[in-house]
Amino acid sequence: MSGQPVAMITGAASGIGAATAVCLAERGVRVGIGTFAGDPHDPETTLRDVRDAGGEGRIVEVDVRSTESVDVFAETLVSEWQRLDVAVANAGILRESGFDTITDDQWHDLLDVDLHGVMRTARAGLRHMREGGSVTAISSIAGGVYGWQNHAHYATAKAGVIGLVRSLAVEYGPKGIRANAIIPGLIRTPQSSDAVNSLGPEGLDRAGGYIPWGRVGHSREVAEVIAFLSSPQASYVSGQAIVVDGALTTA
Ligand code: NAD
Repeated sequence: MSGQPVAMITGAASGIGAATAVCLAERGVRVGIGTFAGDPHDPETTLRDVRDAGGEGRIVEVDVRSTESVDVFAETLVSEWQRLDVAVANAGILRESGFDTITDDQWHDLLDVDLHGVMRTARAGLRHMREGGSVTAISSIAGGVYGWQNHAHYATAKAGVIGLVRSLAVEYGPKGIRANAIIPGLIRTPQSSDAVNSLGPEGLDRAGGYIPWGRVGHSREVAEVIAFLSSPQASYVSGQAIVVDGALTTA
């Protein structure tokens, strides 16, 4: 097997996923830009940014709630580029709901994307990693280090992601495959902008005032860590959940 490494990234039309596509492209990784049909963001923007960075990308529609869809995503990249080295399980949704009123459907719908979608992405990618590789899943401070009212389903899913990568790190270590999680704090993306809508249009800036550095993070600041974990430079890092939060949870 030869040539540039290949990555699959779910939810790559916007936010952290889009920034990750560009970061990986800058490092010579060919990127599968997973795009979700319901997403208002144009994946062509990510593809253009990838090309501007000197990289190669391929847009593939994927719904992480479907095993078949995620499997086809991985297979499409392998049939185009004959290899798959990196899986970034980034797609996620955020819904607010008090625990006493949450319905079974709401609970299952969120876990289907944020936890089972991560499992499906990791599984689809791992099947094709012939010469080592890396899985990186996106957790959250809500799942790793911080209690968040009215988000029990989200916190449960994001905590599950950490358990998943720890298990994969042990199971796949002998095959030269690493698995890690990222624990972002508050990052400026479409998802976080929606979440703080109740604070008004300047909500994210005001929320940033509670962070020791006085600002929220940028997608790129998370993507850089994902790109490092996906690279050979992280060859002895596995089973970790790395916090990227501007010291929010250490203050
Ligand atoms: P985002 O909304 O820009 O990205 C989420 C992506 O997931 C979108 O591209 C969306 O289309 C995709 N998606 C949603 N449902 C999908 C489905 N069923 N199948 C495939 N794709 C689907 O927001 P983001 O902040 O960049 O989110 C990326 C990840 O980071 C998410 O897992 C999110 O929970 C996590 N995260 C974000 C923050 C933050 O502050 N922004 C903090 C902690 C964790």
